[in-house]
Amino acid sequence: MRESVKKIVIIIVAIAGLSFSNILLQLTSQPQIEKFFTRGRFHIYFLNVGQGDATLIRTPSGKNILIDAGPDLSILSEVGRALPFYERVIDLAIITHFDQDHILGFIPLSQRYQIRQVWKSRWTVENDLWRILIGNLKRQGTKINQVKTGDTLLIDGVRLEILYPEKQVASNDSNSWSLVIKAQLGDGVSLLFSGDLPQAQETMLVKQSAPLQANILQVGHHGSRTSSNLDWLQAVSPDLAVISVGKDNKFGHPHFRTLRNLDLLNIKVLRTDKIGTIHLVSDSRIIWQE
Ligand SMILES: [Zn+2]
Repeated sequence: MRESVKKIVIIIVAIAGLSFSNILLQLTSQPQIEKFFTRGRFHIYFLNVGQGDATLIRTPSGKNILIDAGPDLSILSEVGRALPFYERVIDLAIITHFDQDHILGFIPLSQRYQIRQVWKSRWTVENDLWRILIGNLKRQGTKINQVKTGDTLLIDGVRLEILYPEKQVASNDSNSWSLVIKAQLGDGVSLLFSGDLPQAQETMLVKQSAPLQANILQVGHHGSRTSSNLDWLQAVSPDLAVISVGKDNKFGHPHFRTLRNLDLLNIKVLRTDKIGTIHLVSDSRIIWQE
């Protein structure tokens, strides 16, 4: 038992079913046993996998959606801590793109967990890493879907929509092919993920008036200066920004320009290098930090 069950709670207030606009901070109590039961709630874990991305969404009836798997074996201990000890199924694994800090963790994961379905873009890097992973996935009969703008899926109250890329992208740069995914919990709280998408593609989506607005944004490319332009942040206009980033990483992420842009727009920021795994819970109407 931790020394206190009091936790800082972020409550996003819904006004008559319209957009969420305020973040209130307050203290509340949550029983520890809750970890093992979803109790009709959505659980979101921005996992502490060091310099990389891995975000787990667990639905009210216990379906698991994993967006990226980080750079190494740390995904196993992180997912193991977040899920009940008996859980061995990932219902949907989403590979935003092929950089190692997003995809490598899927190899150990696919050896311990049954992955029912994979989403990826059409862009594939045919290297040894991919051959090992695809071998593991084929052995367990995983369905592999190449998704594009407009594709949607509803998993137990989580509506996933791909906002990017289209079928073709005029670039051979892996980051430029990063999937942009919007996840809506019930009729309420929404989250946006964009892998390591660069500014040029961010701006293009803003100009296309893509439905980017979301309550929670996973900041692109670990807070690199090559993402998170002001126009992008304004279009998403999140109440909370999460940066998945390694402590003292060699890239200098997050860049001060990104932090300044977030600050300019008064967006609250949580960082995995500062506080480790970030666990949010939502009943779809409000969301709070465990
Ligand atoms: Zn990355």
